[in-house]
Amino acid sequence: APVAGGAAMAMLQLLLVTHLIVATCSSQQAAGLRGAAVPALVSVPMPTITADSPDQFRGKLRLPRFALPSHYELHFRPDLMSYTFSGVVAITVVVLAPTRFLVLNVMELTIDRASIHFKLSQCLVPTEVVFFKDDQIMVLGFRKELPLGEGVLRVHFNGTLNHEMMGFYRSKYQYKGKTTHMAVTQFQPVYAWRCFPCWDEPAFKAKFKVTLEVSSEMVALSNMPISSEIVRGSMRIIHFEESPLMSTYLVAMVVGIFDFVEDVTSKGTKVRVYTEVGKSSQGKLALDVGVKSLDFYNDYFGTPYALAKLDMISIPEFNWMGMENYGLITFHPTVFLFDGPSTTSTKLQEIAVLVAHELAHQWCGNLVTMEWWNHLWLNEGFATWMSYQAVDSFFQKWNILLDFLENTMSTLKLDSIAGSHPIEVEIHHINEIVRIFDDIIYIKGASILQMIHSYIGAERFQIALKKYIQKYAYSNAKTEDLWVVLEEETGEPFKDFMSTWTKQPGFPIINIKHKGKGIQVEQAQFVLDGSSRAGLWDVPITLRCSSSTNKFILKHKHDNFDVCGERERGGNIWIKLNVNETGFYRVKYDKEIKTRLQNALEANEFSSMEKIGILENSLMLSISREDTLASLLCIAYTCREVADYNVLTHIQAITITVYHVSIDATPNLVADIKKLVTKILLPPTLYVMSHFQSLRH
Ligand SMILES: [Zn+2]
Repeated sequence: APVAGGAAMAMLQLLLVTHLIVATCSSQQAAGLRGAAVPALVSVPMPTITADSPDQFRGKLRLPRFALPSHYELHFRPDLMSYTFSGVVAITVVVLAPTRFLVLNVMELTIDRASIHFKLSQCLVPTEVVFFKDDQIMVLGFRKELPLGEGVLRVHFNGTLNHEMMGFYRSKYQYKGKTTHMAVTQFQPVYAWRCFPCWDEPAFKAKFKVTLEVSSEMVALSNMPISSEIVRGSMRIIHFEESPLMSTYLVAMVVGIFDFVEDVTSKGTKVRVYTEVGKSSQGKLALDVGVKSLDFYNDYFGTPYALAKLDMISIPEFNWMGMENYGLITFHPTVFLFDGPSTTSTKLQEIAVLVAHELAHQWCGNLVTMEWWNHLWLNEGFATWMSYQAVDSFFQKWNILLDFLENTMSTLKLDSIAGSHPIEVEIHHINEIVRIFDDIIYIKGASILQMIHSYIGAERFQIALKKYIQKYAYSNAKTEDLWVVLEEETGEPFKDFMSTWTKQPGFPIINIKHKGKGIQVEQAQFVLDGSSRAGLWDVPITLRCSSSTNKFILKHKHDNFDVCGERERGGNIWIKLNVNETGFYRVKYDKEIKTRLQNALEANEFSSMEKIGILENSLMLSISREDTLASLLCIAYTCREVADYNVLTHIQAITITVYHVSIDATPNLVADIKKLVTKILLPPTLYVMSHFQSLRH
């Protein structure tokens, strides 16, 4: 049979019904069909697109919704000697509207056309089986309109355990000193159809029941626990329990020979970490973080983890860092396994954040799934933000929120250059989906959640999230759905104002100066090259007037706010916007406010995070020529005595940047700037030296 995805598939292919197909239905039902008038030999004409032609489904981004799946029964037999697999899928399909077609995704599988049949009250075989390679779909055309209601579509197929790290593939691993192969799946974002014919969109949630037929020495894993197994000769047939409603991209299978370590959560969920044989002790950190994370999220979201077990496994050949498959998370070993004392603390933090990220997806992504890939940030922004909250609560001494801030600051840079894109990213073709997984989705997404969290307060944010998870559990959500829940919960106008953050690229720079009894605040789009753009945001602004904290939403180009008024101005009051650096914007202070801020900096009024924020804010302003290099050096000089390694790192990077810029921009001043840079760097250097000396003793 032709292979879907082969070059020939680019052309329309029609199938003549043969007696073989009819034979797959029961004889009684088939008899009626055999007598029915089926088209004689059909030539391949130039495609004419009519309402009755399979061509009507070409060039569409989404699948039609007249018939949708509710249940998949999947049976696979992977062969690790020949790197192939055979499979059978029985999909319960609900026909919702009149049609004579079923349209689903499939690619790179050899479909046994003779096996295809759709069983309703009678057994139907398609009169046309058409593949459109560009759209990665298979169209099944039936002779007559399908009756409304439920039927079961059955297809047999064969495939290759490819070496491309997508679909159902093979990964090398070590066993008894030899290199061998495991079979493993990677379906996100759109690779499930490389493994079995399916409606491969996140919104088409269904229940899955997987059966794996493997040689008896193999460990076989899937999303769900094993329900039963039968030994047949040298083979084991392993049936897994039926899953809850979930998206196709989260289905997973792994077959190989592994060791594991295990533990249970306080609610009794069994958690295992699988590794190559002999390496299981390297999975202990991931196991510890996994158990802690399940307990943390159970409590945070108020909805318990939906499955009875959670497996995590190291896959040596893997294109991602981690993949959150429901109940069977796959990881790249370099960011998953803990190699004893040689593992650096940075690596430990990386492992913990990654494990906590994939665990957060079991709620944000798996239980509540984005409706379509343009809302991917709902999955990734949330999992990123949650992972830092979780790890911060497990390992407080790591100060992991500082890492979050560092990520936010580099994403501010990324988002201030031409060519950035909105968080809600537009998708024109399926092939674009794999390219949208970037820092704007992950980090900017997480950062705007951090901004809301800080603006409305941790408690109200958590209550709203609990409601959001409850409302959309086992279902799908769009970005607006989150804002509606937040608006209902807080009374704040989220629905309108958050779209200014998700539907346009970039972010604002906030100009602030004293006016009358309060302050005047004005916004413009911040662009690193200093050019002007028309972006306008609803900006949740937090600010400190010395010891008091204020907040408001700037909804227009400029506005006046009755805060930090004249009375305070009389005293030695300073103003700083962006409390704890949780806002996704930059700030430009007028001369008077800037001088007072600098005095407060000298008086050590700010936390390390705020100092880093002030330094980086000043750096971005001087790069975009919103402020001078002299002003930046002045801020760096003020911070030079700080005894905090993280702040010192920024001072060092900034002063060296200024030095390099001056070589080109102001060559006649290089000698003076060199002296100044040395003067700024001397106290940090002495501090680090004394720190190392104290370590030696
Ligand atoms: Zn993720």
